[in-house]
Amino acid sequence: MAMPWVDAEVARVGRLFADGRLAHALLVGGPSGLGKRAFAERLAQRILCRDPRDGLACGECRDCRQLQVGSHPDFRRVSFEERKDGKLRTELTVAQIRRLSDSLNLTAQHGAAVVAVLDPADAMNANAANALLKTLEEPQPGRFLMLVADRPERLAITLRSRCQRFAPRPPSRDEALAWMASQGHPRETAEIALDLADGLPLRAISYIEDDVIALQKAVRRDLGNAATGKQAPFALAKEWMADRPTLRLELAVELVRELGRKKLATLEAPSGLTARVDFPKLAAWADRANRARGLFGTTIRHELLIGELLLDWRVAFSESAA
Ligand SMILES: [Zn+2]
Repeated sequence: MAMPWVDAEVARVGRLFADGRLAHALLVGGPSGLGKRAFAERLAQRILCRDPRDGLACGECRDCRQLQVGSHPDFRRVSFEERKDGKLRTELTVAQIRRLSDSLNLTAQHGAAVVAVLDPADAMNANAANALLKTLEEPQPGRFLMLVADRPERLAITLRSRCQRFAPRPPSRDEALAWMASQGHPRETAEIALDLADGLPLRAISYIEDDVIALQKAVRRDLGNAATGKQAPFALAKEWMADRPTLRLELAVELVRELGRKKLATLEAPSGLTARVDFPKLAAWADRANRARGLFGTTIRHELLIGELLLDWRVAFSESAA
């Protein structure tokens, strides 16, 4: 799957590598759905390829072929391991980092370089991060570590400060739509999904595949009903909790943005009622909804949180006689 906006950055960083100016530790950070994983993999291939063309890996040499089938001896990938009960761990452990560091001390088998991708690097626990810091403090020539993170700010600043930061630049709206068309997505659906996904094409495609557009309609219907008092906030909160609650909050915030963008003064509910928008209150509400999303990893009572939000949502509207 060609991704022009990813390949442009691979070619640029590949030139740094060719000139011997690439750092040993790279932080590939940014929102999910941008193409960071594809970037890290393609850059690894560019570094290990013996016959790069136009700044990209050739895709045909022995190194490229071995990478494609996952058997390149100089490429390492550190991600969640399976526990004894067969479930995936939710963090990267110190044992994994130590094994990685040991393997980086070995000679590159094909001679050029050894490349490792840590993904997701922001899921390292504190011990793992400390172990990695020791490795970064003693960089070795020809060793490249890529830390892929959706939330790079979660990484210790001591780690971040030792990394050069890279990420693909998001494509323009037209480029993203052209790419989505090349992946077989009809224009109308692609536009809706891309708007929902903040212009991030991979996220937009996952939204289409997960039927998020239908969820968006449901959220809008619910918010319309909550604004006009047609539905009780805590009953809605129960429904929201049952199916992708954080995504629903995200979609609600997107609706607020859209109301602001279009300067819509009213929100129409499916019941036929219309609620008048109080923008300052709505903006404050969107801030709270965003913070609430961040609290979902914690032990706070989520249903109560969403219920209170929906209750306050109503406060941001005043019923009009329209
Ligand atoms: Zn190649």
